[in-house]
Amino acid sequence: MMCPHTLYLGGNMTNKYYMPTRVIMGDDCITKNSELFIPLGKKALIVTGTQSAKRNGSEKDVKTALESVGIQYQVFDKVMSNPTISCVYEGAAFAQANDVDFIIAIGGGSPMDAGKAIALLAAQDIEEGSLFSGNYEDKVLPMAFVPTTAGTGAEVTQYSILTNDKAQTKTSIASDLLFPTVTFLDAKYTVHLGVITTINTAIDALAHAVEGMLSVRASSVSNALAVESIRMIMNCVPVMLQALQSGSEDVINLKQREQLLEASFMAGMVIAQTGTTAVHAMGYSLTYFKDIDHGRANGLLLGEYLKLVEMVRPDLAGRILAAMNFSEAEQFRELLSKFLGEKEEISSEEIDQYSKLAIQTKNIANCVVKPIEENIRTMFELSFAK
Ligand code: NAP
Ligand code: FE
Repeated sequence: MMCPHTLYLGGNMTNKYYMPTRVIMGDDCITKNSELFIPLGKKALIVTGTQSAKRNGSEKDVKTALESVGIQYQVFDKVMSNPTISCVYEGAAFAQANDVDFIIAIGGGSPMDAGKAIALLAAQDIEEGSLFSGNYEDKVLPMAFVPTTAGTGAEVTQYSILTNDKAQTKTSIASDLLFPTVTFLDAKYTVHLGVITTINTAIDALAHAVEGMLSVRASSVSNALAVESIRMIMNCVPVMLQALQSGSEDVINLKQREQLLEASFMAGMVIAQTGTTAVHAMGYSLTYFKDIDHGRANGLLLGEYLKLVEMVRPDLAGRILAAMNFSEAEQFRELLSKFLGEKEEISSEEIDQYSKLAIQTKNIANCVVKPIEENIRTMFELSFAK
């Protein structure tokens, strides 16, 4: 039976739009809407990172809301950046041992991605070898999400991205089961996010919006969301540059934090429909092998990819650049360089290895402008040129 939320869009190709997550936004939206936890279950597992949720007030607000409606909870606060497979199996075992019946993930993309995998693994037995297969029983614990960075959009996507040591990369579990049931967006938790994380996560969101427009699955709906997301992030560029120069995140006010969080959520809705493209495919190696932060990795590569697109499909690049108020991709590349500062060293052996890995990914098949291995190598070289 066709799902009532799935919209089949007309056009040259068959396209669809599916976004089943309820999104609640605004100041104190968790404590003001605590009744939304009631249908999710009787005992929650709060999945989060080691520190930030305790410092920014989000964990306290979730606990207050749960207590006000008589829901019990346990906390699993061991999620590291770029979560590992063993972390999510440990979380799922903890969920089962404590008889929880739903998951609340609080934090950046890492706790949210871990929360999704835990919700899946706590509901059904999946061997490690089949974790990325996409073939699962129709069972998952309900999920409530609280993003505290403005970047990944994981609060509205069906992806859980885990560090995959066997494949020496980061791999996504992609399944409609992984859409959270409800997401709470309250920008006050992001106010003390440091300058570098603010910038890196904003670049990740920008990469999602831009890559979404460069995907073979782009539609008029995803493009509308992407263009607005790009505009909102670009509006915050001057204050993010000011924060970088002054070394203080305090210059970014709550209104601007709200814009960044909303833009990130919209870019998440874009990639939920379109997937990501060459930039993410290439960036995963930079994170896996060189420990470069996810958003920064995308930022290092995004300018060069847009320059390649500009050569092959100037119309497509032009639409993206218009949303940024730029006329050439080089202007965008220069802006990214300002944010990124000094670049890491990369050897030609590393470039060879990462190019071979990137070309095999499904993200490349997802590109309107599909780079060949030689293009990927050149993009890596130019992206790291001093
Ligand atoms: P992150 O790894 O979740 O968090 C980075 C750091 O920021 C951590 O040290 C965290 O501390 C801290 N932090 C989080 N919120 C904070 C706050 N409000 N104030 C101060 N510090 C805070 O970073 P991320 O960039 O948000 O997520 C990156 C991950 O998301 C990657 O693994 C990437 O592959 C994935 N991703 C997923 C999707 C998707 O659709 N599922 C899309 C894009 C990227 P604590 O550890 O103490 O919390
Ligand atoms: Fe990303």
